[in-house]
Amino acid sequence: MSHKKPPINWPLTIFFTLTPLLAVVGTIWLITNHAIPAQTWWLAAILSLLSGLSITAGYHRLYSHKTYKTCWPVDLYFALFGACSYQGSVLEWSTDHRNHHRYVDTPKDPYNINQGFWHAHLDWILHLDHSTRDFSNVEDLIQNPIIRLQHRFYPYIAAFMCFGFPTLVACLWHAPLSGFIVGGLLRMVANHHATFCINSVCHVFGKRTYTLEQTARDNWFTALFTWGEGFHNFHHQFSADYRNGIRWFHFDPGKWMVATLRYLGLAHDLKRVDDETILKYKLRAQAAALTNQPEESFPAIRAAHQTLLTKLTTLKELKTRYSELKTQSYLTRMQNTKDAATETLRNYKKQIRESQKELKALYEAWLISIEAVTGP
Ligand SMILES: [Zn+2]
Ligand SMILES: [Zn+2]
Repeated sequence: MSHKKPPINWPLTIFFTLTPLLAVVGTIWLITNHAIPAQTWWLAAILSLLSGLSITAGYHRLYSHKTYKTCWPVDLYFALFGACSYQGSVLEWSTDHRNHHRYVDTPKDPYNINQGFWHAHLDWILHLDHSTRDFSNVEDLIQNPIIRLQHRFYPYIAAFMCFGFPTLVACLWHAPLSGFIVGGLLRMVANHHATFCINSVCHVFGKRTYTLEQTARDNWFTALFTWGEGFHNFHHQFSADYRNGIRWFHFDPGKWMVATLRYLGLAHDLKRVDDETILKYKLRAQAAALTNQPEESFPAIRAAHQTLLTKLTTLKELKTRYSELKTQSYLTRMQNTKDAATETLRNYKKQIRESQKELKALYEAWLISIEAVTGP
């Protein structure tokens, strides 16, 4: 089915064409004139971090997906430094993003990858018709006065935070033009295209680890310049989780920032999906990927899959029972029956460890049985 594109949005098209040109030409000109002091590069780097994390941890994980709760000073920070990224107001960003998740890969997805890589990357913005946004899916965010104010005065806040602020700061070392071009324009353009890569690159290149039912892919390389957003298959399957990279070695500064906010007492109610559910989806995706394999290999694989699922359920039950008992034991400890409670808890912990060990061995055997039919 072909979809007629809305007419071109000229102001946005001119903006997204001229800004990269001015940023590159301006930076080269300043370099050749030795007019970029080291402080300006530092300013650009720090602003990249502050504004990039406001999109990742703020616009995306807090406002679009509500994966944790926070307080007004953090809202204020995200409202100001999110605007510094020049990617629209929280309300505009979140309404589009919630539609992306709800209608992913269909014509109602604003950055639908099935309309092409370029469409998903930038072209959808060049044809953006602001009048078609109804904001009905962000009613919850409209209740927040800081978000409402940011939306109302967005053009002024964004112009000041993105361009005025770095220019003023660079006046401290008498290089306002370098602040405007490097700390403002160049940083903004780099941040734009890094974010846009999530909608384009992460829907084309990478692994579909947790679901084959949509185009989103895990791409660790993209995570390196998007403050951790590259693990996009995980994110589409578990969008309520405040993390994107779940392993300790996954580069996810967005997750680290939210955890730091919690440590400082500025965030609470962080949502995360339990390990057993995540593994269950991983197994399901691995099994689904085998559909093209010869039918005779299925019974053994199906049996191994079933054993793993049973083991996972047992482990999950054990963990639930353990945490229930832990709460109870706190109460019983008050009544001086500490020893019995501690012993029961120790027993459960031992069973959990054994169950985890068994599960690990079964999972390794499962991977070998898959490789036997698909090849490594
Ligand atoms: Zn998302
Ligand atoms: Zn996506």
